[in-house]
Amino acid sequence: MNTDLGQHILKNPGVAQVIVDKAGLKQSDVVLEVGPGTGNLTVKILEKARKVIAVEMDPRMAAELTKRVQGKPEQNRLEILLGDVIKTELPYFDVCISNTPYQISSPLVFKLLALSPAPRTCILMFQREFAMRVVARPGDALYCRLSVNAQMWAKCTHIMKVGKKNFKPPPQVESSVIRIEPKNPRPPISYDEWDGLLRIVFVRKNRTISAGFKSSAVMALVERNYRTWCATNNVKLEDGDDEVDMVDAGEGDEEEMEIDEDGMGDVKKVKIKAGKKRNRSKVGEKVKGLVETVLTETELGEKRAGKCDEADFLKLLFAFNQQGIHFS
Ligand code: SAM
Repeated sequence: MNTDLGQHILKNPGVAQVIVDKAGLKQSDVVLEVGPGTGNLTVKILEKARKVIAVEMDPRMAAELTKRVQGKPEQNRLEILLGDVIKTELPYFDVCISNTPYQISSPLVFKLLALSPAPRTCILMFQREFAMRVVARPGDALYCRLSVNAQMWAKCTHIMKVGKKNFKPPPQVESSVIRIEPKNPRPPISYDEWDGLLRIVFVRKNRTISAGFKSSAVMALVERNYRTWCATNNVKLEDGDDEVDMVDAGEGDEEEMEIDEDGMGDVKKVKIKAGKKRNRSKVGEKVKGLVETVLTETELGEKRAGKCDEADFLKLLFAFNQQGIHFS
């Protein structure tokens, strides 16, 4: 087994059956299975659904699964796509079921949440801590950008705990199965705008939201977006706004920006180009004023992201957008 690929085979048929039963499959369903491995879940899904599309990274596993259904009637209802599910353009499917390779947990959830049309439901096994992050509520220690995003676009529920002994070889951590049921209709807001705002306020979830907007790298980004918004909406910058114009960042004009790529609060510093003169531009001053107004008027500036709920972030995003401040 290649544990670098998260190959912990689910050996308890009872657990596999509960996972499939919880998906509430219909005979007409197309199911996406991520990482089928040797096919312990796949054969159970094939009993209930019209078709399974299984994305598997390891050719040896794919070969084993092919052999398992060879010559059987279900052979024609199984399509195996060889490759990394994160890089694969996914065809339409109704339901996703996965005993997920844990190293792709976060990108997989973000990928599933961004799909349009969205699947009806996803039944996913994750490392326990990751699963608890998805369902965490404001104020919980594990609440993070991943939690807010998942709960904005989907109803997320914990289904059951699964102990290490149910796998071969046993992983080092406990697991949990959760349901992610995308909201239908999808909330009518831009995913990029929403996630763009969350990326700023969740860099340090225990700092105030205002503090997130103190970073000059963040303000440079907000200013750039503001200029684009003004240009595309025919909003003229007022006289004198451009007195000190934007100067392209030159060699060495780099700043560090903190980003939380996986949405779990694991902050990394990346260098971005940000010309110093930009800070002195009048547009920059104006944007700073607009941001301060929004943070004061919504009374959210002094709150901490870790304590805010979906409604707070929606209110904040709406108020920013009203002022022409955008995050994508
Ligand atoms: N579904 C099987 C089961 O429950 O017994 C195997 C689950 S095992 C935890 C994860 C499977 O995902 C392995 O077969 C592994 O090769 C595959 N895998 C790992 N990374 C992958 C990726 N990025 N895309 C698709 N499959 C992947």
